[in-house]
Amino acid sequence: MRFAGKKVLVTGGGRGIGQAIALAFAREGASVAVNAAHMATAEETAAQAREFKVKAIAIEASVTDEEQVKSMVDRVVRDLGGLDVLVNNAGISQPIMPLLEQSTADWDRVMATNLRGTYVCSKAAAKWMIEQKAGKIVNISSIAGLTGQIYRTAYATSKAAVINLTMVLAVELAKYNINVNAVAPGYVLTDLVKNFVKQGKVKEEAVLHRTPLGRMSTPEDIAFATLFLASEEARNITGVNLPVDAGWTVNGWYM
Ligand code: NDP
Repeated sequence: MRFAGKKVLVTGGGRGIGQAIALAFAREGASVAVNAAHMATAEETAAQAREFKVKAIAIEASVTDEEQVKSMVDRVVRDLGGLDVLVNNAGISQPIMPLLEQSTADWDRVMATNLRGTYVCSKAAAKWMIEQKAGKIVNISSIAGLTGQIYRTAYATSKAAVINLTMVLAVELAKYNINVNAVAPGYVLTDLVKNFVKQGKVKEEAVLHRTPLGRMSTPEDIAFATLFLASEEARNITGVNLPVDAGWTVNGWYM
């Protein structure tokens, strides 16, 4: 029970990677607050978390809305009795298409969720963590933020910015004993990616062809890395962006 007594908030925990992360913390004894855009999905994950005999609450809030985020963090501190770990996982993609066909409204929407959301949630959580002089923030970035991914202008840029935000906050918050790290998932077959596979915009065989370990990552693979970075075993790791991609990013030459 590595996280017994710890209080964890996971944004975008209603489905996919966020759900796996919330459940992995619950399995390790943490109290969890599950945020999502819709109450139904947040509650579904919270209900599954309670099966591990831990406290789990569901919170519907948009990470794009600073007032909703502040109320969410206040509620977590009140109902769980504190906040030790924030996982900034909520994120959306954009239609995959050439620059001139993209809409600037999509750019704004993606930036608001992926980048502004990570910023405002970190700010609200840091206020509490600074007071208690301890905390862990784990941002879910993407391999898209490490490479030039064609047709994904806003998404890739937002994730690259999250990686830099991770470094800035790691340095700034270190004096309060707060670690800030990121996990960069490779392709994971969640709803977000399944849509693109259906549309023929992401081809599983092509992804696997470039992947040295020859397999996709699962939501649980991302959860394992997230829990490690949030654990005391990682107490001297801060400011890193850890790819969990079966080697996709480092593969510079493949035939
Ligand atoms: P999903 O689309 O499966 O799930 C996204 C979750 O985020 C949902 O629970 C959704 O809520 C929630 N959400 C969306 N917008 C908001 C918002 N404004 N406020 C609060 N919650 C919100 O995504 P994934 O699990 O695939 O992705 C999770 C993270 O991992 C994202 O940051 C994504 O960019 C990143 N990632 C994913 C990869 C992949 O291959 N899947 C690869 C690299 C990075 P609701 O359930 O209510 O709709």
